[in-house]
Amino acid sequence: MKIPFLDLHAPYLELRGEIDSTIKRVLESGWYILGEEVDTFEREYAAYCEANHCVGVANGLDALHLALLALGVSSGDEVIVPSNTYIATWLAVSQCGATPIPVEPNEETYNIDPARIETAITERTKVILPVHLYGQPADMDPILEIARKHGIKVLEDGAQAHGARYKGKRLGGHGDVVAWSFYPGKNLGAIGDGGAITTNDPEIADRIRVLRNYGSRVKYVNDVRGFNSRLDTLQAAILCVKLQYLDRWNDARRKIAEQYITGLKDIGLTIPFIPDWAEPVWHLFVVRSKMREKFQQQLNQADIGTLIHYPIPPHLQGAYADLGFGKSAFPIAERIHEEVLSLPMFPNMTLAQTKQVVVACRRIQGMAE
Ligand SMILES: *Cc1c(COP(=O)(O)O)cnc(C)c1O
Repeated sequence: MKIPFLDLHAPYLELRGEIDSTIKRVLESGWYILGEEVDTFEREYAAYCEANHCVGVANGLDALHLALLALGVSSGDEVIVPSNTYIATWLAVSQCGATPIPVEPNEETYNIDPARIETAITERTKVILPVHLYGQPADMDPILEIARKHGIKVLEDGAQAHGARYKGKRLGGHGDVVAWSFYPGKNLGAIGDGGAITTNDPEIADRIRVLRNYGSRVKYVNDVRGFNSRLDTLQAAILCVKLQYLDRWNDARRKIAEQYITGLKDIGLTIPFIPDWAEPVWHLFVVRSKMREKFQQQLNQADIGTLIHYPIPPHLQGAYADLGFGKSAFPIAERIHEEVLSLPMFPNMTLAQTKQVVVACRRIQGMAE
């Protein structure tokens, strides 16, 4: 039985009736940009995130970009980002004309290490941008304390962590603003591109609402030079359906993660570390192996799909060659990128499939079942 890394078709099949009738409803409504469907999703997603405001935008990268603009980031500013993240986090900073200042992660959690942030702060630093990588919340309290002390803002990249909790409270409003992606493979995914921000600050929400729609509050009156980055009406309607299932899907991911952790500890792989204040949502289940390429090849031969998140850290990408960071500039991030491997993880994964992955990993690592 072949086990894919991810199955995007299964959640559609599960909700086919509801999704098909939703699409039909939007088509029949004759209203295709913003409107009630987007308003409803924004209200429901804000409530889900325990935040006061949600503004839907076109995708996760735009959510980060518009949030940075709303926080006043512009040319010449600096934004502190993790050295270990998906490149979108950095690109959003560059889109503002600002410079991403990388800070190394904690090697156990893979998230930005609060103890390393303060030395990276200069008088140009405007924002700290932690990422809740792989669905594990970053350690927000020390980050917020540093930000408060230096009078700088905090934008969280929540693209991989819909529904995760930090110290019992849902992600969505710990920092000044949180950016979300609804790319199909995320824990809450649309059937195309989508994104949003959540915040408790009405001014930030208002600024982003204006920026996403041509800088306009009133049609044909443009207060600022804005963008066209609206959450698609059809996607909003579908996201409303899927939001009802998010907790159930995250619970299913948690059960798979528990099985993986039980089956894979003490076999020479590094398995995820979960601080006691974290309730992760397992966007990815990432293990580390010193012999990653061989390990991945052998899983592939056993018909088990895996991916690497991510093979090249942002500072070593051609896109950032001009920043002049060479090899070894961020050794922790580089080591992580050389060793990580993501095992199959999706809510519809069966117990038997999870077991099959565990058995294959144990065999490859030379451990009997
Ligand atoms: C997916 C992702 C994004 C970007 O989201 P898009 O909707 O694809 O633009 C940003 N940051 C992280 C950490 C992501 O995983």
